[in-house]
Amino acid sequence: MTKIAETVWNDCLSFIKDNIKPQAYKTWFEPIKPVKLERDALTVQVPSKFFYEWLEEHYIKLLRVALMKQLGDGAKLIYDVKMENSYSNTSPQTVKFPSSNRNPLNSQGVTVPLELTKRALHNPFVIPGIQKVKIESQLNPNYNFENFIEGDSNRLARSAGIAVANKPGGTSFNPLLIYGGVGLGKTHIAHAIGVEIKDKYPEKTVLYISSEKFTQQYTDSVKNNNRNDFIHFYQMIDVLIVDDVQFLSGKTGTQDVFFHIFNHLHQNGKQVILTSDKAPVDMQDIEQRLLSRFKWGLSAELQVPDYETRIAILQRKLFRDGVDMPADIIEYIAKNIKSNVRELEGVLISMIAQASFNRKEFSIALAKQIVDKFVKFTKREVSIDYIQKVVSSYFDLDVATLQSKTRKRHIVQARQLAMFFAKRMTKASLASIGSQIGKRDHATVLHACKTVDNLTETDKQFRKYVEDLTKKLTF
Ligand code: ADP
Ligand code: MG
Repeated sequence: MTKIAETVWNDCLSFIKDNIKPQAYKTWFEPIKPVKLERDALTVQVPSKFFYEWLEEHYIKLLRVALMKQLGDGAKLIYDVKMENSYSNTSPQTVKFPSSNRNPLNSQGVTVPLELTKRALHNPFVIPGIQKVKIESQLNPNYNFENFIEGDSNRLARSAGIAVANKPGGTSFNPLLIYGGVGLGKTHIAHAIGVEIKDKYPEKTVLYISSEKFTQQYTDSVKNNNRNDFIHFYQMIDVLIVDDVQFLSGKTGTQDVFFHIFNHLHQNGKQVILTSDKAPVDMQDIEQRLLSRFKWGLSAELQVPDYETRIAILQRKLFRDGVDMPADIIEYIAKNIKSNVRELEGVLISMIAQASFNRKEFSIALAKQIVDKFVKFTKREVSIDYIQKVVSSYFDLDVATLQSKTRKRHIVQARQLAMFFAKRMTKASLASIGSQIGKRDHATVLHACKTVDNLTETDKQFRKYVEDLTKKLTF
């Protein structure tokens, strides 16, 4: 009997093997064991309920075709779910195929244990709208090493990432922990490593997951009584990338399960890659034993990119988008957005959008407007005194003249510009600006701001003043 089951299953396998990627075959079909064959019903043993669910979710059609080729139209597949890992505390269960009417395959007369018809464990990797090909590793191919600009700020992390990608699990960088502030490229590098590994070692199972999603899956698995399947699934992975592990802080259950998974992977020479917004020493509410694991390998910091790197990043993105932008504007952006590459990109995208949709030309004034939105709260505030000095010297006046009661046109304009910049660049109220710039009232300041706005729109010479002063005041 057993022999026949094996023959049938082997024939199924050779058909399946020809129809899916080798890695998927290795992961999802090699672990299956044929158990017995009774008439047209083949029983196979699968390692976990999760495994069974995954097969149903992804390979049902293939299995159906393979089985029908062997056993005819009445073919039935029965899963014997056996837990083999040490966490198992449930006895083997049997589930008959098909177990749900989503995948109808001659379901007459098939009884299905209640527990499984509830489909308690949902495949954690099915994200609506994402194609199944991408489900496997969750990697974003747009984040690769090729488009990750190298600079002093990221050299260590980048080279460590490349080293790991060349020899996953085979370097002393295990785990590789990449840490640094927001928008500095942690997620980018994490994906890049995975993408590179998939490229070099297509047979390896790579999985990218955010720690929030990991936590969610874990919580669900506890709720649904599938903790073992959850662990089992993660233990099968060759390269596990967990993004933003700081979010595990305070979540002791998730940390505990991650600790076990980590140990298993590490012991088996599998690669673990982590990212965090903090260095391990600064992580709070993370268990000591987990922290000490994080320190086993290499912690590489992503620092704030220097000016040259920021220019290179901007140029690279402009080049990619086929957009020409004057060098002084690129420099302006790079000088003013210092601590976050995502914001650097954000400014570029807004610039391009403004330029193409609103037919505005690239200008320093436009750049300033956009930059301001991004750095509203982070920029140091200039003082009203400083603004008056800069404006006065630009027009070759002294501050006393700027503040005087004179109605000479060029002095009035200078004064209005000073008020305009004071409003734009400080948090001072209209009244306070007025009192500091020649003891005027708030209505005068308001009028000045409107006048400057109007003139900027209509008067080319005046617009030049605004641009020049913007540069002087912000550089
Ligand atoms: P983090 O995960 O650290 O918050 P991300 O990896 O999401 O940051 O990076 C933010 C954005 O900046 C991404 O679009 C990324 O591609 C880009 N980026 C960061 N560093 C670089 C770099 N050195 N070269 C090119 N792009 C970069
Ligand atoms: Mg990130």
